[in-house]
Amino acid sequence: MKIYIKGIDDERFHRPLRLIGNLFFEETELCFTEGDATLEAEFFIEENNDGVSIKGFLRTEDGEEFVASKDQQIASHIEGKDHLRQVKNTLSYVYLTMLQDYTGMTQKWGILTGIRPTKLYHKKRQEGMPEREIHRMFKEEYLLADEKIQLMKQIVERQLQVIPDIDSLSNEVSIYIGIPFCPTKCAYCTFPAYAINGRQGSVTSFLGGLHYEMKEIGRWLKEKGIKITTVYYGGGTPTSITAEEMDMLYEEMSETFPNVENIREITVEAGRPDTITKEKLDVLNKWKIDRISINPQSYIQDTLKAIGRHHTVEETIEKFHLARTMGMNNINMDLIIGLPGEGVKEFDYTLSESAKLMPESLTVHTLSFKRASEMTKNKHKYKVASREEISTMMDHAVTWTNDHGYAPYYLYRQKNILGNLENVGYALKGQDSIYNIMIMEEQQTIIGIGCGAASKFVHPETMKITHFANPKDPKSYNDGFKHYTDEKIKILEELFIKE
Ligand code: SF4
Repeated sequence: MKIYIKGIDDERFHRPLRLIGNLFFEETELCFTEGDATLEAEFFIEENNDGVSIKGFLRTEDGEEFVASKDQQIASHIEGKDHLRQVKNTLSYVYLTMLQDYTGMTQKWGILTGIRPTKLYHKKRQEGMPEREIHRMFKEEYLLADEKIQLMKQIVERQLQVIPDIDSLSNEVSIYIGIPFCPTKCAYCTFPAYAINGRQGSVTSFLGGLHYEMKEIGRWLKEKGIKITTVYYGGGTPTSITAEEMDMLYEEMSETFPNVENIREITVEAGRPDTITKEKLDVLNKWKIDRISINPQSYIQDTLKAIGRHHTVEETIEKFHLARTMGMNNINMDLIIGLPGEGVKEFDYTLSESAKLMPESLTVHTLSFKRASEMTKNKHKYKVASREEISTMMDHAVTWTNDHGYAPYYLYRQKNILGNLENVGYALKGQDSIYNIMIMEEQQTIIGIGCGAASKFVHPETMKITHFANPKDPKSYNDGFKHYTDEKIKILEELFIKE
């Protein structure tokens, strides 16, 4: 969809216009000179002492016109970036209103296009804004539907029950450990995940680097007396390495990380059922891993085949029971709404199979077409459900989880997510993942160790975020892990060590 934008010269406004446009059309192209555009959007922005007034006109090729306007008061002490944000929001409001009128589509998340809506809720709460005012702001300024505001409220309340001290955890850290290997690569995946077969040499040298990073980061944390809140092993599939390799890794963690017995939660993604064995479960138990994930994604065999997951549905069920009988009492399972070839009937079947297992938590993702995935590159090969059907499946997930005693405890959104919906983590009471909350709400530093691990350094006082990424491929990681470790320690020193 090509849209001619008139009256907006400031380039800083182009991005919000593009993001709002993409909520309605597959790909929006903005142009700034008259030509062959399908729609024309003209804006008049007037800034005055009280705030900003924006009026917009949306015109179609057939001569139809849609009009919207908004006056937004901006307090005089709000300056710089914060002032700009309010003007951008007002522009987004006007643009979204016209596009909703034109398409007949309602965007339940309003003008919020960001990944972490609940973070904004927390921010306002921490600033002392009363709940009623937060809800008013979301409804009137961000145009959110009541159901989304209620969802956020429910999630924030739940998070505060699970982590009552969430507002004071910025002086601790969590650790993410990335292991970039999987048995095979799934079609929708953009994680660093290299097929492990025949890569033993590369696995061994990768683990050498990983042990080094764990030792150095652990030593630094011990020396400076900084506590670890949670540890998360992800990837890839961290159980695709051998039981001995896993054993050595957790031994390293136990020796080098400070007060491992006080870490609130240690999770290992055992994601792919085809990597789980009795020996590996023994190792997980030996090192008191609290929580694992076994991910079905779907209980339809043809779907698993279509997305390149080379394991059977039976294997998922069998490995779940094995983990259960061996004492794993906090198991998460991931499901994906909108996998190729699946509609409401298939998703309902997946939910009914989940009811037989009742994992402690269930994370319901909506398929997203990430730019680098095999699925996006060959989009024509994959038939996915319509917006309406996706939305019905999501409604079924909400009802099903509620009926089965699960409550939503974290959510995030992605770009290019089918139906502009969200990913939601549900958990039975007391089984919510603390790490998932911490990473989503960005209330503390997460140190990423290993291949493809992204670190997010949150300043303990200003909460300003610095990103740092380890390389995604094992070769570059092996060549540079010492350097990446030093760089991270430098950033940690700057943030946590006061002169
Ligand atoms: S198992 Fe997970 S990390 Fe591995 S290829 Fe599939 S989606 Fe990617």
